[in-house]
Amino acid sequence: MAGVTLNEVKKRFGAFEVIHGASLEVNDGEFIVFVGPSGCGKSTLLRMIAGLEDISGGEIGIGGKVVNDVEPADRGTAMVFQSYALYPHMNVRQNLSFGLRMNGNPREDTERRVRHAAEILRITELLDRRPRQLSGGQRQRVAIGRAIVREPEVFLFDEPLSNLDAELRVQMRVEIAKLHAELGTTMIYVTHDQTEAMTLADRIVVLRDGRIEQIGRPLDLYDDPANRFVAGFLGSPKMNFLEAEVVASGSTGATLALLNHQGAKLTIPVANAVSGGERVVVGIRPEHFREAGKGDCNLQLDVDVVEHLGSTSYVYANTNSPEQLIVQREEQQGRLDTLNVSIPSARVYLFDQAGKRLQ
Ligand code: ATP
Repeated sequence: MAGVTLNEVKKRFGAFEVIHGASLEVNDGEFIVFVGPSGCGKSTLLRMIAGLEDISGGEIGIGGKVVNDVEPADRGTAMVFQSYALYPHMNVRQNLSFGLRMNGNPREDTERRVRHAAEILRITELLDRRPRQLSGGQRQRVAIGRAIVREPEVFLFDEPLSNLDAELRVQMRVEIAKLHAELGTTMIYVTHDQTEAMTLADRIVVLRDGRIEQIGRPLDLYDDPANRFVAGFLGSPKMNFLEAEVVASGSTGATLALLNHQGAKLTIPVANAVSGGERVVVGIRPEHFREAGKGDCNLQLDVDVVEHLGSTSYVYANTNSPEQLIVQREEQQGRLDTLNVSIPSARVYLFDQAGKRLQ
């Protein structure tokens, strides 16, 4: 097993810099997830660790050794691709053993590794089938098996579940978590799916525009996001953001007027974080609204749509502005035209106009 170190890693494609100096310490055996919107540089960062892209600046270390100039095959990494990348004319056994056979690995050892990987992934009965005779989930298992037989020090996953349907994705997510628990090997996993990130990661690395925005354990990032971007990216449904103006500020708290809610007032316990007249943004998660009267600021919302999920429902309320709010509440039958909720001041997040966290 091995840890992975990124030290001010940069990547340019021609004159265009897409990774602007990323630094990260991945511990031995850790499950790290790179998450962020399309184009933020997740795959590029992963491919640089694998050695499939050279780096334009900085250093990458694996197991304590700088690998900038080490060939991909000699880095001790194995990558699982979104596209599976299986050989269509070979059966599963041959697909699994191909790399080892090419490297001249002894036959008995190759067979042992293939047997072991097939057992772990429960595909033993599929070993004689060709890829086209497999379901999407089975193909993805074989693709993961190809990585397992290499017995790498670091597994690299590039959006491995995005070609699967929703149900299978959840199943495979659990399988990958089990695989990590069983092998204990360092894993770095790229996804744009915040649920995959939250459920799989020991630590999440949130990326935006080629920069690391925040690194931390899933619940720490959820509860204590560094800025509006991270706050809005993690959580489903997303955090609500309300435009507000500071009407008073002092050593015990600040009183805000919610601009799209007839100036409803909310006093929050932040000491000297803002000044009177300043425009700010209040963040509140859908699950943190409370019944009217139980929080510190009551709002009456016009209901647009209610999504019933069985145990809970999401209420989408149109506030006659771009500020559509989502409220999560206990499932209830019946029509809903207006919803009275309140905001508990202890649950809100405060951001400046640029998205920086203020408290
Ligand atoms: P996605 O989730 O859509 O796969 P990503 O976060 O993995 O996105 P990357 O694929 O790493 O993003 O791309 C990061 C940036 O680098 C993008 O702006 C992309 O257009 C650019 N890029 C990636 N590969 C190349 C390349 N070979 N040549 C030029 N630009 C590239």
